Amino acid sequence: GEPILSLRGLNYVYSPGTAYEKQAMKDVNLDIWQGEFIGIIGHTGSGKSTLIQHLDGLIRATGGELYFDGENIYKEGYSMKALRQQVGLVFQYPEHQLFEADVLSDVCFGPKNQGLSEEECKKRAKEALEMVGFPESLYNASPFDLSGGQKRRAAIAGVLAMRPKVLVLDEPTAGLDPKGRDDILDQIALLQKTTHMTVILVSHSMEDVAKYVDRIIVMNHGEKIFDDTPKQVFRHYKRLEEVGLAAPEVTYLMHELRESGVPVSTDITLVEEA
Ligand code: ADP
Repeated sequence: GEPILSLRGLNYVYSPGTAYEKQAMKDVNLDIWQGEFIGIIGHTGSGKSTLIQHLDGLIRATGGELYFDGENIYKEGYSMKALRQQVGLVFQYPEHQLFEADVLSDVCFGPKNQGLSEEECKKRAKEALEMVGFPESLYNASPFDLSGGQKRRAAIAGVLAMRPKVLVLDEPTAGLDPKGRDDILDQIALLQKTTHMTVILVSHSMEDVAKYVDRIIVMNHGEKIFDDTPKQVFRHYKRLEEVGLAAPEVTYLMHELRESGVPVSTDITLVEEA
């Protein structure tokens, strides 16, 4: 069928015509289908955040088109508000946006803003908290009393409570310890698997992403340089090292995958393609 998101020749220039002019997106073409679990990776400054901010209309391309569910979001009269409900964006350190007195009220904030009844808001909030594995015993706790991982789960639930079709997470593991990082990624993978929601995971770490996603988009200087299964992308390990995605990391990951018997990794060959 039709992709849920389609980027056609997308360009983005920050501060055009000034000394600070910076082209952060260069002719990016990308199709994403409903139910896919996608990783967007690239070194710092490669354009990942710029790309995902286009997906819910937060920033408008300076060139090219973007289609959501077959509709051009830049056409006249298109509702960006409706788009933002369908494409839920979880920013880096989302816990900085927790501000209500208790967790449940915080997660209810989005649905409440949509004008839903108190009862419906609570229902959606509980459903969302369950999806992220947030303990029920803490629903009435103050967000400020939670651990780092719990805060992050609550913040992700706040976006899920809007029941988006697409969930976009910008570096969801930033600042977490290794255990917290694995827990949150496992939870996201589980939620993706059980709901078949389209999930886009942004990271600068190949290690974080490759183990979980079906498809990896590699960004470099605003360009999409690879778009394939983790297995196929790993074949370009020399190029990955050139673009700041450390080869030792990739090699280690492949080794780890092989050792743990993950089927996808068993026939990865370390052969650089021309
Ligand atoms: P990433 O998310 O991969 O770290 P970004 O999308 O944040 O990359 O940045 C892409 C490029 O755009 C970088 O060169 C960055 O310095 C530049 N950039 C990002 N935000 C702005 C801004 N508000 N004004 C000017 N340049 C920016």
